[in-house]
Amino acid sequence: MKRVGVLALQGAFVEHAISLRALGAEVVEVRQPRQLAGLDGLIIPGGESTTIARLMELYGLASPIRDTAARGLPVMGTCAGLILLARRVSTLDRKPLGVLDIGVVRNAYGSQVDSFEAELDVPALGIEPFPGIFIRAPVIGEVGPAVEVMARLENGAPVAIQQGNLLGTTFHPELTADRRLHAYFLGMMDGHSPEGNG
Ligand code: GLN
Repeated sequence: MKRVGVLALQGAFVEHAISLRALGAEVVEVRQPRQLAGLDGLIIPGGESTTIARLMELYGLASPIRDTAARGLPVMGTCAGLILLARRVSTLDRKPLGVLDIGVVRNAYGSQVDSFEAELDVPALGIEPFPGIFIRAPVIGEVGPAVEVMARLENGAPVAIQQGNLLGTTFHPELTADRRLHAYFLGMMDGHSPEGNG
């Protein structure tokens, strides 16, 4: 059984936990650094990136999560979680973790269209389109050479990306009953030794 942490400081962590449990994983709600030990993977959920960033620093989680991601632990960030993993973020009052080689603009769709749904073509998940739910989503503006784009909007904007052990989406896979992205993330943990166990 895979043991997956969900950063549970603020935002949509409960929904990620439900998706992971539905796929047979054990879930650890992470609020303290010691809870990172023994994990096979970690999810940073959507929410408010400024708030999550502040709480991560307050609870001493920012450095251990950054180190753990850099050592190769599979980490998935959704929406605010993707913002926090990024190297460059416009209008964030703190430093993001900086492990994912992308540049993002927060709340870039503006107040007129701040939430929308789109059927996404994600070849890595099969031919069925994936229901993309976007809520005050960021826009990924720059993508580094090591980053693979897994899905784009019709206008070409990347919305799902992978860089080795790091997976990121600007939408909310935890808000649909389609578990394929979480299943894909669990698959990324095959062959990776749990954190803190060598
Ligand atoms: N707008 C939020 C932020 O910038 C992200 C929204 C979300 O996670 N749904 O942090």
